[in-house]
Amino acid sequence: MRLLPGKLFLALGLAVLAACATTPMGRQQLILVSDADMDRMGATAFAQIKSSGRLADDPARARYVNCVARALIDQLPEPARSQSWEVALIADDSPNAFALPGGKVGVHTGLLKIATDQDQLSAVIGHELGHVISRHAAERVSQQFATEAALRAVNSATGGERQQLLGLLGAGAQAGIVLPFSRRHESEADVLGQRYMASAGFDPRAAATLWQNMIRAGGARAPAFLSTHPDPQQRIAALAAAAPGLMPVYEQARSAGRRPNCS
Ligand SMILES: [Zn+2]
Repeated sequence: MRLLPGKLFLALGLAVLAACATTPMGRQQLILVSDADMDRMGATAFAQIKSSGRLADDPARARYVNCVARALIDQLPEPARSQSWEVALIADDSPNAFALPGGKVGVHTGLLKIATDQDQLSAVIGHELGHVISRHAAERVSQQFATEAALRAVNSATGGERQQLLGLLGAGAQAGIVLPFSRRHESEADVLGQRYMASAGFDPRAAATLWQNMIRAGGARAPAFLSTHPDPQQRIAALAAAAPGLMPVYEQARSAGRRPNCS
């Protein structure tokens, strides 16, 4: 995708004004790419994974992973809840999972060695669903897109226009438009994921346990999930602190009959 050349700074400014969306956490975000485009990207990526022969041939564990994911998906806001979802178990020893726009969830077999029960597994899948519901992928694509457009505009501009553009970029950076959002994305996904856990009837206290297991399993060679998800100690503390507040939600879910029994 390319922005039109020419008055890029104006286009960028307008796009920022026109494309401010809001996450479920109430944060403003820059979205320059349509959900339909993101869904297509997600579906293409997922199809590639499936066609590369990486699907695990293990129906029992695939059913288990599906059971946990479905319970969480039932708690998502619309239209995500009613969208058709595909959940796959992927033969990969690295303890990881992902959810893609377009209703695709992948869980690596390696994760099942670390997430030792359904509650812990729900913490990881819930987190990944939190990224999707918050449209973090679209936001990253948009940031990349906006940054590249802005830099191209600066490079092709001269004199006063160049100064103006550099000023705009500085303002954009301060507003968080061109800065990486990674850490913020992770904590948003943590908060949402733990809420989905509790309202699906999974024990929200298991989120902190999962991360402790993840660190323990890391040893000398940290799992990829850790390197892409910074500050494990800080996030464990945040998840542990949030759990008591979610216990009423969890207990309400259980008494309403939402008692996942995935095995
Ligand atoms: Zn994440």
